[in-house]
Amino acid sequence: MTEFGRFFLPGPTEVRPEVLAAMTRPMIGHRGAAFTPLLRDPDPVLRALFGTTRPVYVSSSSATGMMEGSVRNGVRSRALCLVNGAFSARYRDLVLGCGRLAETYEVPMGRAHEPAEVERRLRAGGFDAVTVVHSETSTGVLNPLPEIAEAVRAAEAATGGEILVLADGVTSVAGMVIEAEAWGIDFFLTGSQKAMALPPGLAFGTASARMMARAVEMEGRGQYFDLPEFDRYHARWQTPNTPALSLLYALHEQARRIGEEGVEARAHRHAAMTVRTHAWVLDEGPRRGLSLFAPEGRRSPTVTTIAVADGRAPALVKGMEARGWTIGGGYGPLKDDTIRIGHMGEHTVEGLDALLADLQEVLG
Ligand SMILES: *Cc1c(COP(=O)(O)O)cnc(C)c1O
Repeated sequence: MTEFGRFFLPGPTEVRPEVLAAMTRPMIGHRGAAFTPLLRDPDPVLRALFGTTRPVYVSSSSATGMMEGSVRNGVRSRALCLVNGAFSARYRDLVLGCGRLAETYEVPMGRAHEPAEVERRLRAGGFDAVTVVHSETSTGVLNPLPEIAEAVRAAEAATGGEILVLADGVTSVAGMVIEAEAWGIDFFLTGSQKAMALPPGLAFGTASARMMARAVEMEGRGQYFDLPEFDRYHARWQTPNTPALSLLYALHEQARRIGEEGVEARAHRHAAMTVRTHAWVLDEGPRRGLSLFAPEGRRSPTVTTIAVADGRAPALVKGMEARGWTIGGGYGPLKDDTIRIGHMGEHTVEGLDALLADLQEVLG
């Protein structure tokens, strides 16, 4: 096995050996007393990660499952979908795939959405939800989510209709301080394999009281992601269906570790890695044809997208691979011109420094 700390993909991220080891425990019944701690013990840590006093539901699915669940439970007929990259486009496609209407507010990849424009579009009326990706992993852009939620509230006040904010926090939750309740987010979700540094296969979501009230009334909200059902089972520390038990063992161990580090300390560690990465790019950039893809003030705390001149991005990824490092290539149309460094999960500034030193040599 290779040593920990050389895998900087923006998802899945590197999992501590202790957490991987936790998954080898034998199976237990998921309706027995021995199961209870698996959901009960991580709960306070999950609430702290989302910044909420409300339950955080645990789903045995990838994050996309929770995205679909948020649509089935939270979008009545028509949503305004904020698109600025691959995952926000997926959110819009899920709205359409679930038979709802969508208006797309799209900005180019690398850009964030303008809260004032969100409000302007919503004021036209006829919307009951907004979908937004907080940290767009395909571009490294952080959307101004609290301001966007505020803009939605302003439009609600103006139009008199309830508009829920459904937010994908897959690469923000556990990588920065999140205040789901204070920001007024009606559904906030993440997946296990990004900043939470767990293996892929679990998703987490928390819903506001008004989202739950809407869900109860929602026709055809489906079965697997039925939030009121999640809520009923959560109240007795169970899940509606057989959960991915081995992953819950991993969650139990990783939540303990996150609790020990502290949610704020974890956010600070991520901020320090982000600052370090940005400083390196700004320092090296002018000489080596590198620049930060996302604009200042709109950069993700967990993934930095670096624009690379002359289509050299794939060669850099390969060069790093030859030195035993995994970094992310550019996403889709950005493949030749960007690389992505996923400085999230359990990585440290020291580990990142070692990576950047090698990247400097690969750049030549
Ligand atoms: C990775 C990712 C997803 C998709 O997660 P899956 O677990 O692959 O379903 C959704 N949104 C964002 C922002 C992501 O980074």
